[in-house]
Amino acid sequence: MPIATTNPATGAVVKTFDALPPEQIDAAIGRSLAGFRALRDTTFAERAGWMRAAADLLEAEQDEVGALMTLEMGKTYAAAKAEVVKCAKACRFYADNAERFLADEPADAEAVGASRAYARYQPLGPVLAVMPWNFPLWQAMRFAAPALMAGNTGLLKHASNVPQTALYLGELFARAGFPAGAFQTLLVGSDAVEAILSDDRVRAATLTGSENAGRSIAAIAGRELKKTVLELGGSDPFLVLPSADLDRAAEVATTSRCQNNGQSCIAAKRFIVHADVYDEFVGKFVARMSALTVGDPMADGTDVGPLATEQGRTDIEEQVADARAKGATVRCGGTRGDGDGWWYPPTVVTDLTPDMRMYAEEVFGPVAGVYRAASLDEALELANASSYGLGANAWTRDPQEQERVIAGLDSGAVFVNGMTTSYPQLPFGGVKNSGYGRELSAAGIREFCNLKTVWVGDSGGADVDSATE
Ligand code: NAP
Repeated sequence: MPIATTNPATGAVVKTFDALPPEQIDAAIGRSLAGFRALRDTTFAERAGWMRAAADLLEAEQDEVGALMTLEMGKTYAAAKAEVVKCAKACRFYADNAERFLADEPADAEAVGASRAYARYQPLGPVLAVMPWNFPLWQAMRFAAPALMAGNTGLLKHASNVPQTALYLGELFARAGFPAGAFQTLLVGSDAVEAILSDDRVRAATLTGSENAGRSIAAIAGRELKKTVLELGGSDPFLVLPSADLDRAAEVATTSRCQNNGQSCIAAKRFIVHADVYDEFVGKFVARMSALTVGDPMADGTDVGPLATEQGRTDIEEQVADARAKGATVRCGGTRGDGDGWWYPPTVVTDLTPDMRMYAEEVFGPVAGVYRAASLDEALELANASSYGLGANAWTRDPQEQERVIAGLDSGAVFVNGMTTSYPQLPFGGVKNSGYGRELSAAGIREFCNLKTVWVGDSGGADVDSATE
């Protein structure tokens, strides 16, 4: 994939970039290690000051950065600016809480024959972050804010279609006061990832992206024995049960499916509706999806902009065509938009069956697949009949049903009667083919730390327990 800014609303290539040559990658890794040696000796208070300065910069520059993101990947300008503000909040959250999250964890010293015993979190070193274009600032920030607050340094390999957002991020933290080398952008293609991750100076990697990219990173990291966090694709179920507030459920279903022009990992993608309310819910949902305004992502009032890439549009066109050919019903949308750029309208497809691609694959665009379930048991079975397990959404006012969906959905998150969203305060991540590890909250900052056991005796040394290692 060429490293270039291409406007998805017009298809026009705006700016191209050369990939960094190997000697410059090598120098950047060297700066990352030197930056780590400087950063790990700074205090939480110093790092928090720089992180708050980064938040201030983001807020002050939200108009320019927002416009850059809209230009590079087509999200609406309003959503882009909201993303910048969310990043500033995450910076402040970790500035405020990192020291508490990484405080020494005392242990029972007497039980282990020590005068003092505890566990200490220490940073690992330079971490490679391979990131996707869909939330080009937020995905990177979910890694960067906790990593830097822990004292790690970051090397960002961003998606090739968001190079200018990547360059902005590469300068942000230095401008905020972090030591040189603390966070750098490497403009490279995915073919450079293996060599970077195999470099001894790089201690770990995080990837947010597709399942294939995750498998590739995990294989390299496995060979190199390096820690990884993988945030991969999703095909989140959205269960609508008879006691649900159907108007609110249809409203959130529409927002969830079409936010970010349908390109969100935690978008609701499979709508599983109880037979008792199926017709009513589908009617409301189709009406709302049809009423969305598709158009210029910079314009006020636009709900849905273009897909980010031409390939992305081709993929969903083929998935819908496959379903239609095998007997599914397209209730609205289903035909690409006119003109230059990669337009595709909000689409609702019903009567899906297991032989259709939409049943098993992630659909990364504003296309909803709707399923009918005769009971809660069947709804849970359908929901879990996916290789993915990222988020899940359920709508029911029945407390017993709420407990059943919380316990029974195979996913990294379940949101009941509200939209699945990421919050700095809550852990974020998946199970099954959606990856492993967690971002955000205390769990996220601890992922790239060495949890060091500390045992201190008065003299002499530990009583040796010869029965164990
Ligand atoms: P992608 O193709 O996997 O790209 C993501 C990043 O990985 C890019 O920087 C890409 O670089 C790089 N990459 C691609 N193949 C690679 C490989 N074999 N080895 C190393 N790096 C590789 O993903 P996408 O299609 O652009 O993004 C959408 C996917 O990301 C969806 O599946 C979505 O659900 C998932 N996602 C998950 C989360 C989450 O938190 N779980 C969040 C957002 C998105 P190039 O651009 O240079 O190819």
